[in-house]
Amino acid sequence: MLRITFLGTGGTLPTINRNPSAIFINREGETMLFDCGEGTQQQMMRAKTGMKISSIFITHFHADHFLGIPGLIQTMSFNGRTEPLDIYGTERTKQMVKLMIELGYYKLGFEINAHELEDGDIVDKGEYFIKAVATDHGVLSLGYILEEKSRAGRFNREKAIELGVPVGHMFSKLQKGETITVNRRRIKPSQVIGEARPGRKVVYSGDTRPCESIERESAGADLLIHDGTFADELRDWALETKHSTTAEAAQLAKKANVKQLILTHFSSRYSENAEPLLLDAKGIFENVKLAQELMEIEIQLRDK
Ligand SMILES: [Zn+2]
Ligand SMILES: [Zn+2]
Repeated sequence: MLRITFLGTGGTLPTINRNPSAIFINREGETMLFDCGEGTQQQMMRAKTGMKISSIFITHFHADHFLGIPGLIQTMSFNGRTEPLDIYGTERTKQMVKLMIELGYYKLGFEINAHELEDGDIVDKGEYFIKAVATDHGVLSLGYILEEKSRAGRFNREKAIELGVPVGHMFSKLQKGETITVNRRRIKPSQVIGEARPGRKVVYSGDTRPCESIERESAGADLLIHDGTFADELRDWALETKHSTTAEAAQLAKKANVKQLILTHFSSRYSENAEPLLLDAKGIFENVKLAQELMEIEIQLRDK
């Protein structure tokens, strides 16, 4: 399972209908947050995600991306959490986390480990990794790439039987990559195992101008979640505030040949009518959606 739940899709300021940035990802039962704006914990309750997250990845320290952390950790403590929590972000993350931990009277019942990442740093999680890349937002900022390592190719059972391999432990030897001998014939794993299957890739830009690092890392991604703060009529304002228009994000998605684009972080000026945001992008890249509060997206395993 690789499921993405949008908990906050508004830009800069919360509105009645949109919370500030937060994205929840569940990968095979391990759960994590990317950004944690104010009110994220109530959105987690509404989405029934549970609070057993292992880590929080913060793109940058503008208030709409991290103010939800103090409340969330206080609730976790109140609920008796004992498992450690990792918080990742740019330089200054240690200082920010220290301030958040010391905010108010409460008893922190678990360990919080702050990690500072730089452009190109990788957090290895075994079957997958998270890579941080520098983005272009006028303050220290990172985008994140969650990418699975490739899986072993498909085992061709019929072929193995045809080659005279007895069903049982010889099968598992081949699956582990060992060459076996059957009736004095050597059988190599490559004879019965297909090509390695690529893992899934999800990219989250955070707040940024369209930038080379996100375009490069998004190549062939299953899903790109990109800053789409403004419609194209406000391109100048996007430049000024170091955000992207939805048309710019769509152009980047097209160049990177991603499978799907989801835009988020919409300016409150579109709270009545978000249509211009979508129309501008659709004209450039067909498979695009505007993120909605509590929207869920499931990414299927790839065969090729
Ligand atoms: Zn923001
Ligand atoms: Zn920002």
